[in-house]
Amino acid sequence: MFARMNPTRREFLGSVAAFSMFPLEIEKPELILHNANIFTIDDAQRRAQAVAIANGRFLAVGSNEDVLHVATSATKKFDLAGKTLLPGFNDAHCHPASSGLDMVVTVDCDLPSIAAIQGALRERAAKTPAGQWVYGSKYDDTKGAEGRMLTRADLDAAVPDHPAAVQHRGGHTAFYNSAAFRLAGIDEKTPDPTGGKFDRDPATGKLTGRAADAANALLEKHQPDNATRENRREGVKRISKAMARAGITSVGDAGDGPEDLLAYQDAREAGELLFRVYCLIRYQHLDRMIAAGLRTGLGDDFVRIGACKLFADGSISERTARLSKPYEGTPNYFGLLVATEEEQYERSRKAHLAGWQIGTHANGDVAIDQTLRVYERLQRDSPHNDPRFRLEHCTQINDSLVARIRALGAIPTPFSSYVYFHGEKMHFYGAERLKNMFAMRSFLDAGIRPTQASDYTASPFEPMMALQSQVTRTDTKGNVWGANQRISIEEAIRVGTLNGAYATYEENSKGSISPGKLADLVVLGRDPLRENPSTLVTIPVERTMLGGRWSFES
Ligand SMILES: [Zn+2]
Repeated sequence: MFARMNPTRREFLGSVAAFSMFPLEIEKPELILHNANIFTIDDAQRRAQAVAIANGRFLAVGSNEDVLHVATSATKKFDLAGKTLLPGFNDAHCHPASSGLDMVVTVDCDLPSIAAIQGALRERAAKTPAGQWVYGSKYDDTKGAEGRMLTRADLDAAVPDHPAAVQHRGGHTAFYNSAAFRLAGIDEKTPDPTGGKFDRDPATGKLTGRAADAANALLEKHQPDNATRENRREGVKRISKAMARAGITSVGDAGDGPEDLLAYQDAREAGELLFRVYCLIRYQHLDRMIAAGLRTGLGDDFVRIGACKLFADGSISERTARLSKPYEGTPNYFGLLVATEEEQYERSRKAHLAGWQIGTHANGDVAIDQTLRVYERLQRDSPHNDPRFRLEHCTQINDSLVARIRALGAIPTPFSSYVYFHGEKMHFYGAERLKNMFAMRSFLDAGIRPTQASDYTASPFEPMMALQSQVTRTDTKGNVWGANQRISIEEAIRVGTLNGAYATYEENSKGSISPGKLADLVVLGRDPLRENPSTLVTIPVERTMLGGRWSFES
């Protein structure tokens, strides 16, 4: 049903030996990169020194001698002086379109203190016409100098007259000022909606300003979408440039609508799109997409329709994921489910029957269990031969969940950098539970193909940070969380390249340095296999290549 591979090509690739050529229509290499330390992530030929590139694809991969031999007088040659070369990284679940737009239209609240955030918001409010919203993004409640959460009073002091909303970098909670609540008609008497929560001061019952998951919808309907088509194109330009600089060549955008598809196409046409994007479409747009005859896989190597995106629960970084045992220190708090199993089944069924891959956000073990039951039922009722059901994040597992994931052939997209970057939040889950979170070792040992994912803005997208976090399971302060889930550097690189391609049905066209595949690669300043694992994050990305052209040069 979903097969998009070319079996003759696969057979051909399976048969090649140490020096591999691919019969492209024009077999003249335009460019040869040689004298490199190449990790191909191709089991047919794991290491190489040189690649020849033609028409945006690898034409030949092998030793310096063999590859230079295919050069013509027109071939450009580039000596990499022993530098390490890997396939380009694939960030399988992140939010480039929305985070790029944030760069254009919101105040960046990734700042060291509440005072600094107030200063930045005050400045923006001064330039904002009366009655219009002031927006902040990338706020993180556990990283400020004051050691406490942003409050409604903090926001009122900075932005007294305009409605203001500051989004947490995790994307599931936001912080509002009094003007915003007034505009939306919300006060302390407003009940929490299903799947959502307004935080209240335990002493006075007054709103603290924080709203979680479904509660945000009550405010969002009062936020007009003022972003222009030009803003969105500019956002894609900025974020794809930043990601190319980090060594990323492919992404899964995990929450797109029609305006994002347009932005990616606009940026591409303008020559500004510096990664390949698999656009997971939010469920709310599914009817329109089906009516237009669209489904997973339509598009090309640069912009492609991905899975249908659904939600089961809340977030890890903001502590709203639905767990079977309470969060540490809050005996009655288990997090939030945002859909019932029956709702999830009906939505998933619609997508499944229309030929869509499905990607369901499920963090806590309760949410993963519910989502697997939905997927299992779909396969019983209307089986697809290669559905590649995705479990977006799939954070907290146990042995029986892993066995069911394996049996379904489902794909987890765990947070790759959370142990390193969000170490200060791990105590909410506790050392014991961390043995079963971001469970790369468990997935790989079971023969499952997890991907690398930042969920940016939820955590930084630099792939070197993902490698370090997964190999060391150590945070920035030196605390180790779930050492049993460590994986090797070679495994982490494969997860971040080839596994990402598999999650989008594109493992035969990208994800490894193999003849015939798209020429996407990254050149590193140092060899990650020889690096001390605790300094992987400092390895510089020197160059990134997308389809045979440099998308970043340092
Ligand atoms: Zn996400």
